Amino acid sequence: MTPELTETDIYGCIDCHKLSFIYMVHNLVWLEAIPNYFSLKKERKKKGLYTSLCLDCLSSRIGRLLTINDFQNVPANDHIRFGFRMGFKLGFGLES
Ligand SMILES: [Zn+2]
Repeated sequence: MTPELTETDIYGCIDCHKLSFIYMVHNLVWLEAIPNYFSLKKERKKKGLYTSLCLDCLSSRIGRLLTINDFQNVPANDHIRFGFRMGFKLGFGLES
């Protein structure tokens, strides 16, 4: 008998299992973090599972802080781009 999948099982970070908000990074960033990303994604999809990482685990896997250039310029990332812009205005980085 297969145990019932929880929301965390389905949508959670594959490393820490916490639920994260939706964001989209470029495929090269995914491949940097998960070299077998596309095959893993396909395999998990068959089981009804998403393949996601929270931002902390993504950053940890690639061994550096994420930059605004890692994120695709799509509406799903508006909140992230807004956060970066506010950080730049407050002097926490240089806008590129
Ligand atoms: Zn995580």
